Amino acid sequence: MPIGRYAPSPTGDLHVGNLRTAMLAWLFAHHDGATELRLRIDDLDPATARLEHEHRQLADLDDLGITFTGDVLRQSERDEAYRHAIDRLHRHDLTYPCFCSRREIREAASAPHVHLPEGAYPGTCRDLSSTERARRAENRPAAVRLRADAVEVTFTDGVHGLTTTVVDDFVIQRNDGVPAYNLASVVDDATQNIEEVVRGDDLLDGTARQIHLRERLGLPAVRHGHVPLMVNDEGKRLAKRDGAVTLSDLRELGHDAAAVRAALAASIGLPADAAQAGLAALLPHFDPNALAIGPTVWSGC
Ligand code: GLU
Repeated sequence: MPIGRYAPSPTGDLHVGNLRTAMLAWLFAHHDGATELRLRIDDLDPATARLEHEHRQLADLDDLGITFTGDVLRQSERDEAYRHAIDRLHRHDLTYPCFCSRREIREAASAPHVHLPEGAYPGTCRDLSSTERARRAENRPAAVRLRADAVEVTFTDGVHGLTTTVVDDFVIQRNDGVPAYNLASVVDDATQNIEEVVRGDDLLDGTARQIHLRERLGLPAVRHGHVPLMVNDEGKRLAKRDGAVTLSDLRELGHDAAAVRAALAASIGLPADAAQAGLAALLPHFDPNALAIGPTVWSGC
């Protein structure tokens, strides 16, 4: 029975789209008699993560009945584990320093003869000589990239089905020295013994990178389920500017946690009246294989 996880970034209040993903993670982790959903706090970036956001997020999850098992893992306390993984990749000669700015990457990737998947790194710094590296290091600190050799990764996503992606040389350590999200995430999943990752499908494109990195680091594979995001009525990803979208906004309008849970259940195609009683009451109705792939429009409580 797979162990699942939910990994919020404490950068603000969770909106109904995030809460819906958390609810789906709970449902996946409890259907079919499974019982384990673990919590990770993605507070790796000191510039954006705040303890007060974390407290509010955890209170909202708790109010909705989204419960967790085991110890909470905080990325801000995991530097040693990340350094260890990065060192291992260095030792296997799978890394190189990259001095490119975002603008340089954009320009190199859009050059007429270059055909790359959107957002892929064009490889500018891959084969610099040591003299050139030393010269460039004088002007700009280096990020560290994984040498992925444009490997093609195929996996079966629990929601989206068979997916094939070419992996580019992605960043494993930012140029301010902070380990990158993909690296931290796979190291943490292994530490928490995670077997099934359910998260928003905005992260689907990056999943091949994580699968490849797990293989390179000798970490166990996980199953993936990328669930559809909530969008506004223009079809754009839901955000703060879309009005009452957090639990506290909705409370001010007179909707309690049970009403929000019911609206979220309805958005997943589950019976709203059952949701009033709690998440467990939804389990008999929940079929992960029946989840729609397309985005869902939030139309309020
Ligand atoms: N912390 C990430 C987010 O809130 C999720 C990371 C993950 O689930 O792998 O978007």
